[in-house]
Amino acid sequence: MSAALSLKEQLDQLVMLQEIDLKIGQVQAQLGAVPSGLKDLDAKLISLQKQFATRSARVLELEKSTGQLDAAIQINEDRLARTQQKTDAIANNRELQAATKEVDQLKKMNESLIQQKTSANQEIESLRAETQKLEAEVESVRTQRDSLQQSLQSQGEQIAQNLKELENDRAKYLKSVEKSTLLRYDRVRQSRGGVGVAPLIGGRCRACNIMFPPQMAVEITKGKELHSCPNCQRLIYVPQAAETPTT
Ligand SMILES: [Zn+2]
Repeated sequence: MSAALSLKEQLDQLVMLQEIDLKIGQVQAQLGAVPSGLKDLDAKLISLQKQFATRSARVLELEKSTGQLDAAIQINEDRLARTQQKTDAIANNRELQAATKEVDQLKKMNESLIQQKTSANQEIESLRAETQKLEAEVESVRTQRDSLQQSLQSQGEQIAQNLKELENDRAKYLKSVEKSTLLRYDRVRQSRGGVGVAPLIGGRCRACNIMFPPQMAVEITKGKELHSCPNCQRLIYVPQAAETPTT
């Protein structure tokens, strides 16, 4: 198996492995990004429900206060009727003046109570319209969330399936490359943004663009031993298109 492969063949395998590893990286990123849309909708739902609860509580409060206003208006009207009745029977000028003043005050009080009740009712009405709208919005976000969850689930299953296939592919290449080379590859890959191999192109490392000393470029092209880029440490291979040695 592995012993049968030349260094160049092993490097070819390593390049294929690198392609798979890059795909695996992408798929893993997809997998990580999946639930974020769901989280946004969940947060939106919570915020809408909070808004709904605040308004509903305010409606209850206002309904309680209109009940109290009704009672106050009733009491005030009764007193007004009594005072007006009393006024009719008063002969004394001073008493009449005082009673008339009281009637005026009671009327003013009545107006103010009715005004308070009207504005409370207006607020209730507009809050009800808002809660209705919020209810519809909650419903629509919930539907959106459920369908997203469903599609994410099948998407997630698909991604997991892709990942499994890629891992299987990967395992095939692992057998063909020497363990020490794989270790070097993995170490560099992990510290260098997922890329552990780089082609030699025009005497340069394609990954970090450093120019190799000419003698080193020649050695690499001969393919007798494994070379790392002195700058980025990536394992250097000669791409198939450039295999004819240049001096
Ligand atoms: Zn380099």
